[in-house]
Formats: sequence, C-alpha cells, structure tokens
Amino acid sequence: MDEKKLKKQLVRMSAAVITVSMILCVAVFGVLTYVLDAAHDADHVQMKAEALEYESRILKQIDKNFQILNTMAKSYEISGIIKDFDELEKSISEANRVNSFVSVFYLPIEGTGIFDLYGQDTYRNFTLEDCSPQTKETILRAQQGEQAVSNMFESMAYDGRIFIYSVPVYENGEIIGVLSAGDTLEIFEDIVNGNFVMNGEGYVHLLNENGDFLVRSENTIVKENINTIFDGSYLTGETKRKTLDALSNQESIYGDFEYRGEQCHFYIEPMGLNGWNLFCVDKLWGSTLSFGRIIFIVAGVFFSVLIILLAFMFYAYYRFRKNAALLLHFAYFDTVTGARNTLKFDHDLQEFTKKHKEYSIVALNIHNFKGINDLFGKNQGDRVLCYLKKVIEDHLNDEELFCRDSGDLFYLLLTETDRTVIKERLEAIIGQVKQESSHAEYSYEISLYAGVAVEKDREKALVALQGIRQKHHINITFYDEELHEKLRKRGEIESYMQLALENREFKLFLQPKNDLKNDEIIGAEALVRWQKPDGSYRYPNEFIPLFEENGFCIKLDMYMLERVCEQIRAWIDSGIEPIPISVNQSKMLFANGNYPEVLTQLVNRYQIPPSLITLEILERTAVDDFEQISSQIDVLRSKGFKVSMDDFGSGYSSLNMLYQLNVDELKLDRGFLRQTSHDDNDRRLIILEQIISFAKKLGVSTVAEGIETQLDKDTMVKLACDYGQGYFYERPISAEEFSERYMAIRVKKNRGSSDKK
Ligand code: C2E
Ligand code: MG
Ligand code: MG
Repeated sequence: MDEKKLKKQLVRMSAAVITVSMILCVAVFGVLTYVLDAAHDADHVQMKAEALEYESRILKQIDKNFQILNTMAKSYEISGIIKDFDELEKSISEANRVNSFVSVFYLPIEGTGIFDLYGQDTYRNFTLEDCSPQTKETILRAQQGEQAVSNMFESMAYDGRIFIYSVPVYENGEIIGVLSAGDTLEIFEDIVNGNFVMNGEGYVHLLNENGDFLVRSENTIVKENINTIFDGSYLTGETKRKTLDALSNQESIYGDFEYRGEQCHFYIEPMGLNGWNLFCVDKLWGSTLSFGRIIFIVAGVFFSVLIILLAFMFYAYYRFRKNAALLLHFAYFDTVTGARNTLKFDHDLQEFTKKHKEYSIVALNIHNFKGINDLFGKNQGDRVLCYLKKVIEDHLNDEELFCRDSGDLFYLLLTETDRTVIKERLEAIIGQVKQESSHAEYSYEISLYAGVAVEKDREKALVALQGIRQKHHINITFYDEELHEKLRKRGEIESYMQLALENREFKLFLQPKNDLKNDEIIGAEALVRWQKPDGSYRYPNEFIPLFEENGFCIKLDMYMLERVCEQIRAWIDSGIEPIPISVNQSKMLFANGNYPEVLTQLVNRYQIPPSLITLEILERTAVDDFEQISSQIDVLRSKGFKVSMDDFGSGYSSLNMLYQLNVDELKLDRGFLRQTSHDDNDRRLIILEQIISFAKKLGVSTVAEGIETQLDKDTMVKLACDYGQGYFYERPISAEEFSERYMAIRVKKNRGSSDKK
C-alpha cells in the first residue's frame, strides 16, 4: 500500500468517525426532541383533561344549585307560600340548612324580602340596596328571567368568598321575585389549596374574560400579588396577544412562559359561563417530572457512552495514525541506513517525473561487499552501508533521490543526462569513498562501481552494473543494448539450464582423433551440443563459460561423462570394438576430492575399462591450482583413467609444468597451428617442435587440434606430432552419426577377423 492510499484511508476513516458521531448526535437529538415533544404534548393533554374535569365539576355544582333554587321557586309558585312571609321564612331557613348554602334569600320585585344566613338569624325587610354589587347584578338578571350566577366575591355577611345564584320566581307566569342562594364552591378548595392539580405540581385558577383572576390559588408559580395574568412581564408580547385573543373569542389556548429561570406552560379552557375560564399552570417538567428526569438520565448516560465511544474511536484513530506512520516508515525506509527503499524510491520517482522529464538512474554497488562482511563482521558491513548512504546524500542536490535496494545496492536519481557530468559526479563519490575508507579504522579500501541508465530505467542501470561486476578495472559504465542482450541471454540460459538437462537437451557429439601417419581413427572427443526443442543448436562457447561461472558445469560434465559411458557400453554391446573417448572436464569438477571415486563408480556401473576414458583438463586450469591438480591427476591415472592437457600453448604453457604433471596426452592448441602454419619462419614452430619432442621423451602422446588442411596435417607430421583432430578429418558430429559412419566399420572388421579365426 502506498503513502497516498494510506492517507486516503485515514481521511476516510476520520470522515467516517465524524459522520458516525454526527449521525449519532443528530439521532440522539432527534429522539430526545421527539420524546420531549411527546412529553410536552402529553403534559398538554393532561392539563386539558384536568381543566375539563374541573370545569365539569364546577358546572355540575352550579347546575345542582340552580336545580335546588328552581325547585324551591316552583314549589313556592305552586303552593302560594310566597305571600305568607312566616311560612316563607321557615321554608327558606329549612332549605338553607338542608342544602348547606351560605345564605338563601328571596326578594320580591316590589317590597322587602327575606334573607337567611346559615346558622344565624333570618332577616326580613331585606332590600336590593342591602346586596353586594355582584349579588345585585344576578338579582337584576334573574328579574329579567335569566338564571344567573355571580363572579366570586368577598361576602361581608359570610366573611368569605362566595358565589350568588339567582333564579326568577313566577306566579301565574309572571316574575314576582327572585330567589337567590350564596354558596362557596367546594371544588375551589382544591384550587385554592392547589394540592391535587397536575399530580400536585400544577395550579388551576379561575379567570374572567379579561384574564383577571376570579379565583387565584394560594400556591402559585408566580409569587407576586397580581390581579390579572397579564400583570408582570413573564408573558411575552406574542403570548400576551394570542392569549387575549383566545380569551375574547372564548377559545382554549396553550402557552409557555419563563418565570425566574424556570420554563412553565399554561392552558386556558373557556367554561362557557359568565366568560369564565380555567387557567392551568404547570412547570415544564412539573407533572411529568419523573419522566423528564428519566429522559435526562437516559440522555446523560447516552451522551456519556457516546463521548466515551468517540474518545475511544479518536484514540484508536490516533493509534492507527501513529502505527500507520510507523508502518509507513518500515514499508518505505531501509532499517539499516534509514535511506528510502525501492518502493518509496519508485513512488517518489513518479512524483518527480511529473515535474522533470530529464534525468538518469544510477545503480551503485561495492566491490566484494560480501568480503567486507566476512572479514569484519555484519555490524561493520552495516556501518559501511550507513557511511555510503551519508556520502551519497552529501553529493546529491535537493531534488535528487536515492534508495538502498538490498545488500550493497543503491540507486541514485540524478537530474543530469550529460554523460561526462554524470561520470564526474560519480567519480567524486567513488573517489571520496575510496580515499576515506582506506584511512578508516579497518583500513579496507572500499571500491565502488556504478551502472548508469540515461534511459531513466532502474533495471537498465542494474544491467549496466552487472556488466562490470567482474571487471575491477572499470568503475562506471553506461547501459547499452548489446550488453543487455548478452545478460538477457545469460538469464534465459540460467533459468532454463536445469530443465534442459532433465529434458536431455544436451547432446553428445563426437569428433574423431586420427593417427597423423595413417589417418586411422584412434579415438574421439566428446563435445556437447545444446539442442533446443525447436531443433536449433547452441554451441559450447555460448554456455560453457557461464556454466563454469555458475557451477552448473559440474552437473553437465557428469552428465556428458555418463552419456560417453553409455555410448561405449552401446558399442561394446553391439560387438563393436570401442575407441577411447576424451571428455572435457571443468576445473571445479577436477578439483573435487571425491571426483576419482565418482568416476570409478560410473565406469563400473557401465562396466567399461577406465582406460577408454580420457579426461581433458585445460592448461590454464592446471596452472591455477597446480599442486592439487597434480595429485588429482596421479589418483585418476592410478585408477586407470587417461588424462590429457587441453589447449596447451594457449596460456602460460611451460615445459616445466609438462614435466611435473603426469599427463598421458598433450593437446596442442589450435592457435599454435594457426600462427605456425602461416609463418614458417616463426620461432613458435621451433618451440612446438621442442614441445613435441619433449613430450615424446616423457612418453606423452601429442594431439594437434584444429587440423583443417592438408598443409596443417603435413606441418604436424613434419613436427612428429602423433595425432590430429580437426575439420580436415571430420567436424564434431552426433554420436549416432559417428557410430554409423566410423564405428559400424569396426564391427564388420571385427566380425571379419573373428570369422577368420
Ligand atoms: P576443446 O576441448 O578444445 O574442443 C575443441 C574445439 O575445437 C571444439 O569446439 C571443436 O568443434 C573445435 N574444432 C575441432 N576441429 C576444429 C578445426 O579444425 N577448426 C576449428 N576452428 N575448430 C575446431 P566446440 O565443440 O565449440 O567446443 C569448444 C570448447 O568448449 C571445447 O574446446 C571445450 O573446452 C569446451 N567444451 C565442449 N564440450 C564440453 C563439455 O562437455 N564440457 C566442458 N567442460 N567443456 C566442453
Ligand atoms: Mg577438449
Ligand atoms: Mg582444445
């Protein structure tokens, strides 16, 4: 995952956290608002229900009182008692006692009336002028045929707040007087005490059509002594206006107000009587206090949980960011040197190319870094890498980049494309490291080499670098296609060689060795040919040097040896007299202590005499490790194998070496012949003659390689060389062809000779 992606994910995660939090907040707010609204509505419903209940109770009592008075009036009309004041007085007094009115009185249209105050005397000569204004008003209305009830007022006679009910009294269909009663309304005791309204948390008052208090509970929310609900400033202008409208239209209304920091609400229910209204007031969480508390507790818990959750999420997010940064560092930076790694390098390169079109890539490496590790230890190796990182850093400009791939491989991005300048800059780095390292405590000269690709390709820089890996005299090389192709082929071969061996793509070819005197075939050399599945051939010079480098030659040589044994066995089995076959052996194989034993086992397995196998070792190989090769040759010969020194004269041939190595055969390099054959006067001819004569004296047979012409042959015959090998006689041909062309004759010969016997 790259940095951008990770950052994007972080942003997405942050957005998700914030969105979820916001959604949760909105959801909680919505739910709470809904619940509060519902509670508020429930409160309103309860207020209205209670107001209606009070209204009905009040109206019932008023009705009951009117019924009593009407019944009395009717009985007076029927009985004619109205004229008999003594009887009337008794009846009024009795009615007052039975119905527990405060007072009962009768006032004729003309003349004086009777007034009975409960528990006290009855007064006669009672006139309209003795009445309170409220009483007077109801009496006058009753005289007009209405049944009327007064507003509540303070009665002087009763010494308390009462209502007056008045009904007309008829005689012969005409109103002759008014029967009235004064009463307290029991219901208002509740209102006055204010204990039962809205579960004891609210108050009910009675208002007239102007909003004046007719009955005001003692326990009020508004503590000031006010006469109307519009006194004081707790109702806002808008609420005031709406309330006034509702009162004058005798409509119910809900309203809210704030009093001393507390939210309250009220409900006004018109009673349809005298313009009276029930006025219920409640603190907002008054009657639903416990419910409200639950909501607040739930909300509190919810928000606490939410806050903890959010805190947790933000903490997790913070940790994630921190870890991501750490991971990013591990993902993008080399832990040993702290330099970028290739992932980061490639990422930054992409950014770089958006701004710059011209640049080059350099692959930088240390010659034999493995040696430094082996010699001074891994820690010292790491220190060298850190040192190198610092030097590179110092030599790059701000825009340039570098990274460490693995091991000692660094890549540099230079904003330069001029080869001369690049070379100068790299030489400065290489030179500094070389100089400083030779003075460092471990006094090991660090030698760097670099491959450059002005083609801006990391792979190409690496190809260029690989091209000079083995060449210590070259420090800097630039990528070129030819080199790339070579390395590509090499890679291709290496990746396929094992499979090719398993598929038996390596074929045994044989080239005869002839006696120079009579041209008779005295042996053959096994030469490998790689036959690709498409039928095409690859020649040894295309892959043998590579196999020698990568060690695969050991496997291939053993494989070829086995094919040779197989072939000899096949000849023997077919009644053919076999000829010795020379097999080219790589140095690595020859140097192996087990080698003679392995060879012996092989020939034993095929049941062929070891003397039929001649092992060819290159002259230059023998020079490299003289002692060991020498003893190995002795062992091999003691086991019956023949040993031949191949390409003698191509390297640092010395007659002394020939003397010291107990080989059976000397193969004179064909280069020898080429030089001598075209220049008879060449001193080499003399040397060659000496070599041949010296070999003869040592009992070593000589084989001239590269006999191409009659002249070549004549020259070697003249020099007394024993055998020849070359195109003059035959090119290397497949073992099958060889068998057919040369060995089949030997069968006939044998058969012929045996027949003779
Ligand atoms: P070599 O052992 O010196 O083999 C002789 C080479 O000279 C062969 O090349 C052969 O084809 C070539 N040759 C023979 N006669 C003439 C001639 O008249 N004129 C010219 N110009 N060349 C001639 P080849 O087969 O290409 O093999 C090249 C080398 O590869 C061999 O040189 C040998 O060192 C190595 N080689 C071949 N097969 C094997 C193998 O199985 N194992 C190992 N280790 N090396 C092998
Ligand atoms: Mg050879
Ligand atoms: Mg040779």
